[in-house]
Amino acid sequence: MAAIDRTRVAIAGGGPAGMFLGLLLARGGVEVTVLEKHADFLHDFRGDTVHPSTLTLLDELGLGSAFEALPQRRIDSVGADLDSGPAQIGDLSRLRGPHNYIALVPQWDLLELLAEAAGSEPSFRLLRQAEVTGLLHERPPGNVADDGGAGSRRVTGVVWQDRSEAAERGPDGGTAHELEADLVVACDGRGSAVRAAAGLAPTAFGVPMDVWWFRVPREPSDPEGALGRIHRGQFMIMIDRGDYWQCGYVIRKGSDAVLRSEGIASFRERLAQAQPWLAGRLEEAPASFDDVKLLDVRLDRLARWHLPGFLAIGDAAHAMSPVGGVGINLAVQDAVAAARILRPALAGGGPVPEAVLQSVQRRRWWPTVLIQGFQQFAHRAVVGKVLDDGAARDGDAARKPDWTVSGQTPLPLRVLDALPALRVVPARLVGIGPLPEHAPRWARR
Ligand SMILES: Cc1cc2nc3c(=O)[nH]c(=O)nc-3n(C[C@H](O)[C@H](O)[C@H](O)COP(=O)(O)OP(=O)(O)OC[C@H]3O[C@@H](n4cnc5c(N)ncnc54)[C@H](O)[C@@H]3O)c2cc1C
Repeated sequence: MAAIDRTRVAIAGGGPAGMFLGLLLARGGVEVTVLEKHADFLHDFRGDTVHPSTLTLLDELGLGSAFEALPQRRIDSVGADLDSGPAQIGDLSRLRGPHNYIALVPQWDLLELLAEAAGSEPSFRLLRQAEVTGLLHERPPGNVADDGGAGSRRVTGVVWQDRSEAAERGPDGGTAHELEADLVVACDGRGSAVRAAAGLAPTAFGVPMDVWWFRVPREPSDPEGALGRIHRGQFMIMIDRGDYWQCGYVIRKGSDAVLRSEGIASFRERLAQAQPWLAGRLEEAPASFDDVKLLDVRLDRLARWHLPGFLAIGDAAHAMSPVGGVGINLAVQDAVAAARILRPALAGGGPVPEAVLQSVQRRRWWPTVLIQGFQQFAHRAVVGKVLDDGAARDGDAARKPDWTVSGQTPLPLRVLDALPALRVVPARLVGIGPLPEHAPRWARR
């Protein structure tokens, strides 16, 4: 082991949950270290949506104008393009307040903005290319061999690996570093290695889909913003990133290998059927299946988000599906609630009582359960049905569609179409969430 270092709070993962938590705690005068395994935030599998509640939070933190200066697109409605015509699902323009829209900003720009703001706080430190690989535990008194298992011992810090090239080539290459902390917060996302090191395992709720993630060139005459397309068993979202479309194409869970074996030409044909105006440019991208990444979709939740010296929030506590684009919002709101609840306990010395960690879970539990319930419903009632429709069209007789989105607009959408005032309900659920959190006074600028 190399040098031993110390901090008050070690945050594993610099995604939305980790960066907001780090910024807020640092503004509260708490010494905090965020460890992010990548060198930068530039990974194109990150979601791009910044919702009204997060925009309000950025205003409260004094970062509203810096955020507005970032290149972005704005959308004030959420809908899907069906064969029977466009279907409006949520109308954000009906929300009260200045931010009645979703801003589409590449997430790395938002995270860099947070890193810069946090960097001006003396108690903040961000270690990049720092991958947390394990946890430190309190040594049991007496017999070291019989310590009752990691789960029963207080977490006292993290073990991390410096992934920078210089470190990996240098004499210390591969050496683990130790960072001692009074509290470790797992913010390392849906496959959380830190949560696993703590001995916590989430309950998984089945999901019908995975996502293929790839880019297609965008032309100036294309529509702007975000598009959802449902066509004959195909389901695709397209996010406008200026000169290219970031596309998420829904496939049945576990079907990646079979679909790839059909060849890229067959996939391009499907895409051109779903969105005919893309046809002329698909030779350029995706050029091959090397350009198409498989994103493993999960929906799960920990029954217990904390242990002595340890807390999990965001996707590390409850992995969210992309449905509704609500995971970032929820992760940010977890972080704000956690900062507000933890700061008084962190202001003194010593460990944070577990009852305080439990309060964080208690506060964020029901919004999480509610939104995950909504995602489960959407998986069953929409995504699964669309995929079944596609399977039936592809000749899989075992999967007969009982609800065909391509033939007729589904009932809930017909209701929303007929009664536009109701569109505020999904807009509020997606844009603000059931329990929006606000920046505590001490974090505002
Ligand atoms: C295909 C797909 C599309 C999605 N699209 C959207 C969308 O448009 N809008 C939306 O709101 N939600 C979307 N979601 C959900 C959303 O991505 C998550 O809910 C959200 O990112 C959770 O934020 P987080 O900070 O908890 O975790 P993450 O965003 O996953 O961040 C985790 C961070 O930890 C780092 N990390 C991981 N392991 C370690 C380690 N061992 N040590 C150090 N650092 C580590 C990672 O590099 C990353 O920076 C999507 C999900 C999927 C699967």
